[in-house]
Amino acid sequence: MTTNAFPDETHPITWPEGFTAAASFTFDVDAESCTIAHDPTSTRRMSLMSHQSYGPKVAVPRLLKILERQGIQGTFFIPGFTAESYPDVVRRIVDGGHEVAHHGYLHEPMQGIDAATEASYLDRGLEALAKVAGVRPAGYRAPWWELNWHSPALLADRGFLYDSSLLDGDAPYRMAVAQDGAQDTDSRDIVEIPVDWTLDDWEQYAFYPGVTGSGVIESPSKVLDMWTLEAEAHHSQGSCFVLTNHPFISGRPSKAVALEQLIERVKAMDGMWVTTMERIAEHTKATVNEVQSHARIEIPSQPGAGAIFTPSRTRETALS
Ligand SMILES: [Zn+2]
Repeated sequence: MTTNAFPDETHPITWPEGFTAAASFTFDVDAESCTIAHDPTSTRRMSLMSHQSYGPKVAVPRLLKILERQGIQGTFFIPGFTAESYPDVVRRIVDGGHEVAHHGYLHEPMQGIDAATEASYLDRGLEALAKVAGVRPAGYRAPWWELNWHSPALLADRGFLYDSSLLDGDAPYRMAVAQDGAQDTDSRDIVEIPVDWTLDDWEQYAFYPGVTGSGVIESPSKVLDMWTLEAEAHHSQGSCFVLTNHPFISGRPSKAVALEQLIERVKAMDGMWVTTMERIAEHTKATVNEVQSHARIEIPSQPGAGAIFTPSRTRETALS
């Protein structure tokens, strides 16, 4: 086991022998689901649906060729609705040796929903991935990266190894399932692999009139430059570079070319472990013995009472 210079003492981690940092290329295969989730009547819009179906129809096969050419495995977060709509595409992803993970059923908005509703989305997504591809996913990414305080327990109940929806670190860590400080009543934990809007292609390229607001389609050269800088920074500080791509965005020609160039650059970084999210999570679970709950802030019930702040807690646990 090597010890790296990762400076964030909140999330200390070491990487497998021979590696000093990690990188994972992830693909959220939203297809039509993310637009239907916002507006069910969007199914009537033939052109909008075609913009979304470009992902599974054209982009995923192209991206799979790139990953094969580069000799790396990606992680594909797939809503159950996408799996049911494009079963052959999902099976091609599995047959290519890539990881398939959970991304809701219909990319449902998560803000403000209760645990029972969220559980029904999780179960429906699990059923779809099992039925279409025989997959029981180890990982979960909430639609729009929106996790609720009750979500970790729902994920642990279903045996998920990791989540990748939070934005509070540069490296994976073990997250307490109990988020209300009641750790004596629930000692379970799951791995969290944090993400960052800097490394999401949505912010760089997404544009559809009336759907993506002021979306500007940036130059792939600029994006390649920006993401290379981010990868170099993660590499130098020993943390974890996680890129989120949407096939209907980054699978278009010049963007796919830029993505392949980025993969080549990241692979060439000395000591960079380019792998799936599942392998990063397995490594984290096996080598990190600190489990963290999250600081939580709430609006006071009485005027002038001051904000209610429940600080984060860290506990030691045995390695699995
Ligand atoms: Zn998504």
